[in-house]
Amino acid sequence: SNNLMAGKRGLIMGLANDKSIAWGIARACANAGAELAFSYQGDALKKRVDPLAAELGSTIVLPCDVGNMASVDQLFVDLGTHWDSLDFVVHAIGFSDKNELRGRYVDTSRDNFLMTMDISVYSFTAVMQRAEKMMGEGGSALTLTYYGAEQVMPHYNVMGVAKAALEASVKYMAEDLGKDGIRVNAISAGPIKTLAASGIGDFRYILKWNELNSPLRRNVTIDDVGRSALYLLSDLGSGVTGETLHVDAGYHIVGMKAVDAPDI
Ligand code: NAD
Repeated sequence: SNNLMAGKRGLIMGLANDKSIAWGIARACANAGAELAFSYQGDALKKRVDPLAAELGSTIVLPCDVGNMASVDQLFVDLGTHWDSLDFVVHAIGFSDKNELRGRYVDTSRDNFLMTMDISVYSFTAVMQRAEKMMGEGGSALTLTYYGAEQVMPHYNVMGVAKAALEASVKYMAEDLGKDGIRVNAISAGPIKTLAASGIGDFRYILKWNELNSPLRRNVTIDDVGRSALYLLSDLGSGVTGETLHVDAGYHIVGMKAVDAPDI
C-alpha cells in the first residue's frame, strides 16, 4: 500500500462483483488511502456490493440506474448528505443487448443502438454534469473503453461504435472541465472475463488471441487496470487529460506477428 490517494474521496460506479474492473480499481484506490463511495444498479446487486464495499472500509453504497436521470440526480443528492466534496469518479458502466453482440453490426436495431449509446456513453456525461459541482478543488474522472472503438473486433458491433463515441466524449469533457482543474481520461482495457464480457459472442477466442499476440504474451488483470487507474486518478497523472491509456499488454501496437509466433 501507499499514500497516493490519502485525503481523496471517490465515487466508484459499475461494481457488480469481485470480477468487475471497478473492483480492481476500487481496491487499488483504497490501498492508496482513498475514501470510497459506491453506486450499484438495482436491488439484486446491492447484496453483492455491500460486503465488497465493507471490505474496503466503505459504508456509502447508493443505488443508481444511469438510464434514468432522476436516479442520477438522486445519487448526487444522496452522496451530498455524506460528503461536501468529491475528488474522483470512476465510470465502469456499459450495456448492450447481447443478441446484438453476435452476428453483424449492420443488423443493429435502432432501439438497441439508442439504448447502448445512452447507457454506455451519455451516462458518463450525465454523471460529470453533476460531479463537476462537487469538484471545487479540481478532480479526476475515469471511464473504461475497449480497442473495438478503434479497430473492428469480432462481435463487438454496436459496442464498438459506442466506445468510439465515449472516447470522443472524454476529449470534449476534458476541454470543458479542464479550466476548473478537472481531468477526464479513459483506460482502454484488454479483454478480461467479467459479467459484461460474457455477453460478447466468442469472447473466449478473443481472450486467447490477445494472450498469444500481445507483446507481453498474456492477458491483463483487473489489478493491472487498477494500478494504471491509480496513476490517472492520483496526482501522478496531474498533467494528463483527454487521454485514452491502453492497458492491454501492448496488444494495440501489434500490426502482425513474426512467423515464429505460436499457432492459434
Ligand atoms: P461488469 O459486468 O463487472 O460491470 C459492468 C457494470 O455496468 C455492472 O456493474 C452493471 O451493473 C453496470 N451497469 C449496466 N447498466 C447499468 C445501468 N443502467 N445503470 C447503472 N449501472 C449499469 O463488467 P466490466 O467488464 O467490469 O465492465 C466495466 C466497464 O469496462 C464497461 O464499460 C466495459 O465496457 C469496460 N471494458 C471491459 C472490458 C472487458 O474485457 N471486460 C474491456 C474493456 C472495457
